[in-house]
Amino acid sequence: MDVIYRYDPFAPLEQPKTPDAATAIRRLTEGNERFAEMVRRMQERTLGGDAGEPIVIPVSPITLGLPLYEGAIPTQAPYAVVVGCSDARVPTEAIFDQSFNNLFVLRIAGNVLGAEGLGSIHYAVANLGDSLKAIVVLGHSKCGAVTASVDAYLSPEGYIDIAATHALRSIVNQIQIAVRSSAQALEAAAGCPIHKLGDYRSLLVAVSVYVNAAVSAYALQREIERPDGTGPRVYFGIYDFETVRVRCRPAGHDEFVPSGMRPAPASSQELASYATEVAHAFLNLDDDDRDRNCKLTMKW
Ligand SMILES: [Zn+2]
Repeated sequence: MDVIYRYDPFAPLEQPKTPDAATAIRRLTEGNERFAEMVRRMQERTLGGDAGEPIVIPVSPITLGLPLYEGAIPTQAPYAVVVGCSDARVPTEAIFDQSFNNLFVLRIAGNVLGAEGLGSIHYAVANLGDSLKAIVVLGHSKCGAVTASVDAYLSPEGYIDIAATHALRSIVNQIQIAVRSSAQALEAAAGCPIHKLGDYRSLLVAVSVYVNAAVSAYALQREIERPDGTGPRVYFGIYDFETVRVRCRPAGHDEFVPSGMRPAPASSQELASYATEVAHAFLNLDDDDRDRNCKLTMKW
């Protein structure tokens, strides 16, 4: 299987126009689907499948945001801000199949936002507004920062070591809101003391990853909103290692959920109902299936 970057100086490429937030999110979603399809083909090939047609990626200095000639400096023109986690397994441009100059990227453990991160976003909104159409908070499954927050929630005695370091404590504390909301949502969705179940820790991490991205998006939307209610829209999504897709809800049994992102919750009630939706999805519950004395079917 060949992946070919092809440069033709006589066929310059135009960047797709991104007039609004919906187009920005569509470009990211389509890029993630291209990435997922490439990974799927590689996996097939690994298992002995046919190499198939080569994947040809046309490139040009202009589309890549590189100098067209020595000394030329490209103008910065990203169409989206992405706030992702520092996790080395989730390189932002690669999973969205984007090139240079498309994304303004912040990566902080647990995709939480402190003063410097927020300042960077304010800078982008104020100075890159001509091209910038959307902001995305990107969480990911199996997040170490979220896992540390879940551990601090479940075993407060282990939190002492983290609490001694101001910077680490700041990350873990910011994620606590999502962890506590997720724990409440799971308990309510299960209708029983689910925290006594065997692999509750993994379940709580899985739900908290989704809720944490939604919490960050909610907080960020409020932070950057102008007094007149205008400003870029904030969205969120979660990169799932199993499917290599960015989505905003987990898939049920044998269910295919395509790539996609959602607007940040508009209120604390919307945030709570999102936590409930994710908890239900992970527990594989339907509405009239509550009273089962904790005999739950989990998806792992
Ligand atoms: Zn992470």
